Amino acid sequence: FPPNDSSGPGIHIGLGQTGIHSNIDLSVVVPAYNEEANILALYERLSPVLESITPNHEIIFVDDGSHDKTVEKVLMLRGRPWDGPDNFDGQDSAFADGPMNPQTHPRPGYGDPRVKLVSFSRNFGHEMANTAGFRHASGAAVVIIDADLQDPPELIADMYQKFTEGFDVVYAKRISRKRESFLKKTTSKLFYRVMNALSDLEVPLDTGDFRLLSRRVVVELNKLEEHNRYFRGLTHWVGFNVGYVEFHRDERHAGETKYNYIKLFRLAFDAIISFSYKPLKIFSLMGFVVSGISFLLMIYWVLDKLLLNNAVEGWTSLASIMLFSFGILMIQISIVGEYVGRIHDEVKRRPLFIVQRKEGFGLETPGQEDRD
Ligand code: UDP
Ligand code: MG
Repeated sequence: FPPNDSSGPGIHIGLGQTGIHSNIDLSVVVPAYNEEANILALYERLSPVLESITPNHEIIFVDDGSHDKTVEKVLMLRGRPWDGPDNFDGQDSAFADGPMNPQTHPRPGYGDPRVKLVSFSRNFGHEMANTAGFRHASGAAVVIIDADLQDPPELIADMYQKFTEGFDVVYAKRISRKRESFLKKTTSKLFYRVMNALSDLEVPLDTGDFRLLSRRVVVELNKLEEHNRYFRGLTHWVGFNVGYVEFHRDERHAGETKYNYIKLFRLAFDAIISFSYKPLKIFSLMGFVVSGISFLLMIYWVLDKLLLNNAVEGWTSLASIMLFSFGILMIQISIVGEYVGRIHDEVKRRPLFIVQRKEGFGLETPGQEDRD
């Protein structure tokens, strides 16, 4: 659907096929992949904070193809009646007749229609979940927060304060991290240093995804159609006024991190390649150095043969030169391949993600397909 193009509260925006009149001040986007143990806890901490900022808020959970009860938990927040948490399968017939009325349905639901759900048809990854969240958010300010309570929701009040002072991007900068492994802290530090050195873009150090974006930043982000996204870099690429608030990063409330080192490495690779040509430049430089050295060696060997008639010897040098230059060549080709592969991704023009279900946007047909 077309990107939202409102620039503040009370402006008519295009959302899905239904144009709705948005007077939402603050949208919170929560990407969630197998976070069943965190959804309710997050809501209980997040909701009072948002309530104290503005009653006109929305919380958009983007279920990234979870295999657990993440979706059920979100629907529970919307307060529809269900058979009980244990045998709920999302197919309850009571489900069809709208939000729960606390008088007629005394069973505990949260009854909060400001909680919204976008559910993917499969796991499309964290970056795509963020993307979907932004495309569905209609607030004048949009906050993105992890589902695992590692980012303290209370901080949103400070971020919103900064937003009202005129900042378009407000990063939450962590000044400490609780109980994350030494290896993770060091690799993450190293990654940002390497990343900033290799790409032409300064990604602020020690920030996660937790940040607030103004509507005009979100509008610009929604225009970007690239498939290999590195959201942390993109918000910086967009520009505008950047501010910071500081915090102490907590440990996960429950569950396991969804990022293993392979995924992190891929993210790093994506980040560097989608923001910079430096890998290509470094390897072309290396090509010049290696061929320069080879040229000098060649002269030396030819003279050695012609003047001193030393032949036959030199198996060792030959073998090492060949292996070394083949190695370099292969790496160079694979780096070029990475760029070509990304071009291939882009020209296929596949949708970035597929939504199989939405709740709270006025289009509530379960099973409906929406491509973006
Ligand atoms: N996440 C997601 N899709 C994925 C992986 C993660 O939507 O494929 C979400 C996850 O549910 C969480 C956020 O992204 O809300 C950050 O993930 P995680 O906490 O695992 O990362 P870490 O904090 O360890 O960097
Ligand atoms: Mg986390």
